[in-house]
Amino acid sequence: MKRSIKVFRFKVLNASLVGRKLPVFFMFLIHAFYASASSGINERTRFSSHQVSADSVVLSFDNDLSIPVTVNLSLALDNLEGEYMSDFTVTVPAKRRRYPLARFKKPEPAKPYQCSYTWKIVMGDVSQVPDLDYLYLLPFQKRSSYKVSQGPGGAISHKDIFAYDFAMPVGTPIIAARDGIIAAVKSDSSIGGPFSVYANDANFISIYHTDGTIANYFHLKKDGVVVKEGQEVKRGDLIGYSGSTGFSSGPHLHFEVVRPGPDFENNQSIVFNWDTSGTGSKKTIRGYR
Ligand SMILES: [Zn+2]
Repeated sequence: MKRSIKVFRFKVLNASLVGRKLPVFFMFLIHAFYASASSGINERTRFSSHQVSADSVVLSFDNDLSIPVTVNLSLALDNLEGEYMSDFTVTVPAKRRRYPLARFKKPEPAKPYQCSYTWKIVMGDVSQVPDLDYLYLLPFQKRSSYKVSQGPGGAISHKDIFAYDFAMPVGTPIIAARDGIIAAVKSDSSIGGPFSVYANDANFISIYHTDGTIANYFHLKKDGVVVKEGQEVKRGDLIGYSGSTGFSSGPHLHFEVVRPGPDFENNQSIVFNWDTSGTGSKKTIRGYR
């Protein structure tokens, strides 16, 4: 089970960033995103401005995460002109410092300028097209089988999402369903229960795939993550151990594949199929729409 988390943060950067007396660079910033709280997207991304000459200013961005992020800004400019004058979107690659988002000229160099904006950030590249034909490996060891305690669209907590809950004992090895880069992990929680108050307490692993989708493996046991952010994993690699942390009514693994939504607030749930070729079973678990 999983709930969206929105974090809003207000921040004012003062003129010290600009380095000259003249301009007053005042920013009103709202940081909104949909991601797991501990992905660190809020703490590990940062805007800054640099006056590169008497009449030009660059707005740049630090992305300390191991995967790209997409930034959407709504600008309100005073004494600044540039390629972007209002709303624009930029994808910033992983691990970049001072990545230029926008360049501005001051039409009146001697006068102060002002740039106000609100922003939204999501993990991943919103322009990528998901590979809907990819067949995901079941996220547990071969020759083992676990009951699907809740399928896609399930009434308990999957109403609007395409996700599977596999009931399995605490400590069951979890494997990567697809190659990717570890985008985020959490493993320090020891609490959980069938109440939404525990929604932020699930241990998890998020894996970023080459088509821009992210697989989430939720409810892992405390210290039950054996991979690190930024690490590359192959399909079939051991990544952790199941548990029942977070909003969970009993030991299980929640598995879903998502991509950032175009509204920058809600992830879109990807409808996928399992690769059952190696299981000896003829049965294919089919997706729904
Ligand atoms: Zn679930």
